[in-house]
Amino acid sequence: MKPLDAVLADIRAYDGPPARVMEICGTHTAAILRSGLRELLPLDVRLLSGPGCPVCVTPAGAIDRLVELSLAPDTCVVCFGDMLRVPGTAGSLAEARARGGQVRMIYTPLAALSLAKEHPQTRFVLAAVGFETTAPVFALAMKRAREEGLANLRFVTALKTVFPAVELVMNTKNPPDALICPGHVGAVTGQVPFAALAARYGKPFVMAGFEPAHVAAAVWRILRMLKRGEAGIQNLYPEVVRPAGNPRAAALLEEVYTLRNSDWRGLGVLPNSGYAPREPYAAWELGYDDGGASDGCACGAVLLGEMSPPDCPLYGQTCTPASPVGPCMVSGEGACGLWYSGGGAV
Ligand code: SF4
Repeated sequence: MKPLDAVLADIRAYDGPPARVMEICGTHTAAILRSGLRELLPLDVRLLSGPGCPVCVTPAGAIDRLVELSLAPDTCVVCFGDMLRVPGTAGSLAEARARGGQVRMIYTPLAALSLAKEHPQTRFVLAAVGFETTAPVFALAMKRAREEGLANLRFVTALKTVFPAVELVMNTKNPPDALICPGHVGAVTGQVPFAALAARYGKPFVMAGFEPAHVAAAVWRILRMLKRGEAGIQNLYPEVVRPAGNPRAAALLEEVYTLRNSDWRGLGVLPNSGYAPREPYAAWELGYDDGGASDGCACGAVLLGEMSPPDCPLYGQTCTPASPVGPCMVSGEGACGLWYSGGGAV
C-alpha cells in the first residue's frame, strides 16, 4: 500500500474536477473526524456523511414500542447502548428507565438468550437494530430462541439493508460524485451488490476499512478515479471483503428474514429495505408502527448529504449531545453528534 504521507500529499495536490465524496457509514464519519482528514482536503473536495447510521434511521415508532414494552409488567427491553437515549415521540428508553421501566444494555444479541434462560419469569424483548453487519447475529439469536423454545424472549426488529438508501442518495437532485463503501457491510454482502450500483450510476465506489489510513487511501483512490473519468468498484479491504461475501451469514439471513418495505427515520418508507422475520420465526416478533414526529430535526437532509450538521438551525442550540432533538445527535455513528464531539460545535 502507498505510504500515508504520500497518499496525503497526492490528495492535497489534487487538480481534478470538484468532488463530493460520501462515506455511507457512520464508522467512517467517526474515523474522518477523529483523524482531521477533512481539514487536509483541497477546497473543491468535500466529504459528506451518508445514511449508514442504523440507530439514526430507526423510526420513532420502534422506539415508542420499546418504551411501551419496557414499562409493561415483568418485561425487560435489551438493546445496544446507543439506542438508550434516542428520542421517540414519548421519550427515550433512558427516560423510560428513569420512570421505572426495565431496560438492559447488551454488547451482543446472543446475551439476550442467556438472560432469558437465567430469568424465566421475565419476558425479554430484544431491540434488533442494525444493517447487514449485525443482522446475521440477530438472525442467529432468533433461530436459537426458536430451537431452544425460549417462550420468554421476543424481538422488535428494525433491521435494514443499506442498498435502497444508497439508491435513494444516488437519485437525489445533487448526488455525490463517489462513495466510500462500508467494509463491514461488504464483509457480509461481498462487493458484488456495490459493484452493481457503481455500474448503474457510473461512479467510483471504493470499499474501505476503518482506520484513518484506510479512509485516506479510499479518498485518494476515488480522486484518482474521478480525475481519470473512471467508474466502478475498487476494493481496498480485500482481506475482509471477498467478492461473494460471507455465504454462511447470507444463508442465515435468507433462512430467518424476508425483505419488507421499511420506514427510515427522516427519509421515509423505502421499498424492500427492512428485514422482517419469515415463518416460522414471525411468532417471535412483536412488531411496531412505522413513522413518528421529527420535532424539526433535519436528520433526513444530513443523511442524504444535502446538509452538513452545522447547517441545521438546531445544531449546538437546542440540539446537543446532552439534550438531543434528533437521533443523529445521539448515536455513536450519528453525524451530528460526531461533528459536535469532533470540535464542530458552533
Ligand atoms: Fe437533527 Fe439535531 Fe442533527 Fe439538527 S442537529 S439534524 S435536530 S440531530
